[in-house]
Amino acid sequence: MPVISSTQRKPILVSLVVFILVIVFFLSPYQSTSIAPSSVPPKNVVPHEFVMPPDEEQFKEPAWKNTTRAKAAFVILTRNSELDDLRKTIQQLEARFNSKFNYPYVFLNDEPFTDEFKELTSGLTKAETKYGLIPQEHWGYPEWIDVEKADKLRHKMGKDGILYGDNLSYRHMCRFESGFFFRHPLMLEYEFYWRVEPSVEFFCDLDYDPFLYMKENNKKYGWTISLLEYESTIPTLWETTKKFMKEYPQYIPENNLIDLISNNGGGSYNLCHFWSNFEIGDLKFLRSPEYTAYFEYLDRAGGFFYERWGDAPVHSIAVGMFLNQSEVHFFNDIGYKHAPFMHCPISRELQKKCHCDAGENFDFTESSCMRKWISVTE
Ligand code: GDP
Ligand code: MN
Repeated sequence: MPVISSTQRKPILVSLVVFILVIVFFLSPYQSTSIAPSSVPPKNVVPHEFVMPPDEEQFKEPAWKNTTRAKAAFVILTRNSELDDLRKTIQQLEARFNSKFNYPYVFLNDEPFTDEFKELTSGLTKAETKYGLIPQEHWGYPEWIDVEKADKLRHKMGKDGILYGDNLSYRHMCRFESGFFFRHPLMLEYEFYWRVEPSVEFFCDLDYDPFLYMKENNKKYGWTISLLEYESTIPTLWETTKKFMKEYPQYIPENNLIDLISNNGGGSYNLCHFWSNFEIGDLKFLRSPEYTAYFEYLDRAGGFFYERWGDAPVHSIAVGMFLNQSEVHFFNDIGYKHAPFMHCPISRELQKKCHCDAGENFDFTESSCMRKWISVTE
C-alpha cells in the first residue's frame, strides 16, 4: 500500500479547496452580472423589513399619482350670496382631497352666476370649474300642480312651525335635487357625482379616489350621516311609495334594503334617511328606469309642493327599494360636518388623518340611524 507523506498531502488539499471554491462560485447568484436578489442583501446593509413594520401600503405609490380617473365631478347647487361660505368649503375640500386628484366642479344655480362668484371660486382650484343655469322647467311648478292649493298648504305649514314650512324656493330646491340635477346638460358627461354645499366642512385627509372606489366595487350610493326625518314634512310620502311599489313590482328586487327604511317589512316608513347634503353616487342609478319612474310618480302626486318632501328621504327610500346592501357604502373615513351634525370617525387608525373631535360624532346619538344600518348590514 503506497504511503502518502505529509509533504505530498498539501498540494492535494489545496487543489481540493480550490475545486470546491470554483463549484461554489458557479452555483452562487453573485457569478451573474444581474443585481443580487433582495433576499441576499449586500454586507452591512440592514434589509428594510427588519427596520420597518411589514406594511406593504407604505411602499406603494400614492393613489393620486395613478392617472386613472373616474368620469366624475363635484356638483354644487348654490346661490351667488353663499360665495363666502362656499369658499371655505372648497378650500377644505381642496386641501383634504382634490388638490391631489383634480376632479372638476359643476356649480348650478336658478339665477346666472356673477363674474365675482366665478372668479373667486375658480381661483381656489387647479381643476376645471363649470357654471350652469338651471332650466325653468326644472325649477318651477309643473302644470298639474294646483298653485292656490299649494300656497294655502304652504302657509299653513309655516304657521305650524315646520322647518322651511312656508318656503317655496326650498321646495323647488328639493324637487330639483330629487329629480333633475343629474339631467342638467353640464352633468351628462359624468358617471359619478359628489354633492357639496356651502358651509360644510371636511376634516380628514383622503388619500385614495372615492369615485374609483365606487366604480371598482360596484357601489351606487355613498353616505356619511344618517338621521330621522321630520314626519310633518312627508305625511303621505310612504303611502305614495307603497302605491308605486304595487304598480311597479318589476322594479323592486327581492334582495333590497327595505329593512333599513322600515321596521315592519314595508308597512310604514321609519323616517331613516341619508343626509343628502353629502352624497357620492353613481349617476346611472339616478338616471335608471326605476329611479326615473319613482321620481315621476312622486312628482305627479304633488307632495313636493302640497307637503315638503325632501330630496334626502326621496333618495334614501329609492336606495332602500332598489339597491342591495353591497351597493351602498358608508364613508366612515370622510370626516364631515353640515351644522349641526358631524360625522367624525372614532377609530384611532382613521383619526390619524383627521382633526375633528370624535366626541362630537353624531353616529350613535338618538336621532342617528347608524344602529339601524349596522343591524341591517352586519
Ligand atoms: P338645508 O341644508 O336643508 O338647510 O338647506 P340649504 O339652505 O343648505 O339648501 C340646500 C342646498 O341648496 C344648498 O347647497 C343651497 O345653496 C342650495 N339652495 C337652496 N335654496 C336655493 C335657491 O333658492 N337657489 C339656489 N341657487 N340654491 C339654493
Ligand atoms: Mn344645507
